[in-house]
Amino acid sequence: MAKLYFRYGAMNSGKSTALLQAAYNYEERGQAVLLAKPEMDTKGADQIASRLGVTRTVDFLIGAEDDAGELFRRHRDRVRESGSDALIPGESAPDVACLLIDEAQFLTPAQVDQVFRIAVEGAVPVMAYGIRTDFRTLAFPGSRRLLEIAHSLEELKTICRCGRKALFNGRKIAGRFVFDGDQVAIDAEGASVRDEHFVTYESLCGVCYLEESGGVLAPA
Ligand SMILES: [Zn+2]
Repeated sequence: MAKLYFRYGAMNSGKSTALLQAAYNYEERGQAVLLAKPEMDTKGADQIASRLGVTRTVDFLIGAEDDAGELFRRHRDRVRESGSDALIPGESAPDVACLLIDEAQFLTPAQVDQVFRIAVEGAVPVMAYGIRTDFRTLAFPGSRRLLEIAHSLEELKTICRCGRKALFNGRKIAGRFVFDGDQVAIDAEGASVRDEHFVTYESLCGVCYLEESGGVLAPA
């Protein structure tokens, strides 16, 4: 039975690198994969970029209103058709061996249910990579749903500046930690470090997070 996998970790835990490596492993065996991610209104949004320098364009973006299952079926048909002409007698028709989703925290809960069905009813494994919690330590809605229904959970680990395992994602604006604001804030293209729009994230352990937040976890 195909499964839905959720591989989660703090920022900079190598999620995109792990995703691209998984895609490579399938393709090295001659198997086709599809790459997808939720649509975000930023430059280069259709790219999956590993911090090691490898970048790939996704096969499709999933808009907030889109049916992820429907999008997947359309692209799966394309893969099946593209390979069927060149079929050698006796060889089985090409199919998608795996759907890989980056930034899965930005899926809606309904879309997580849809990708669960891709695994269970469509019999194609789905590997979703994402961040568990936002900068206030609260679950992203998509991540919460993934934690609820994924068959398999795997944590990708990274370390805090102090050497402990990082749990949280501290948000910095113009280099200073902030604990208020929208759940989603992506670094503005071309902003300078001192600019109030310059958003970065630092993976922190629980101890360092509480130190920076003045002891506050998940402010109301
Ligand atoms: Zn720490």
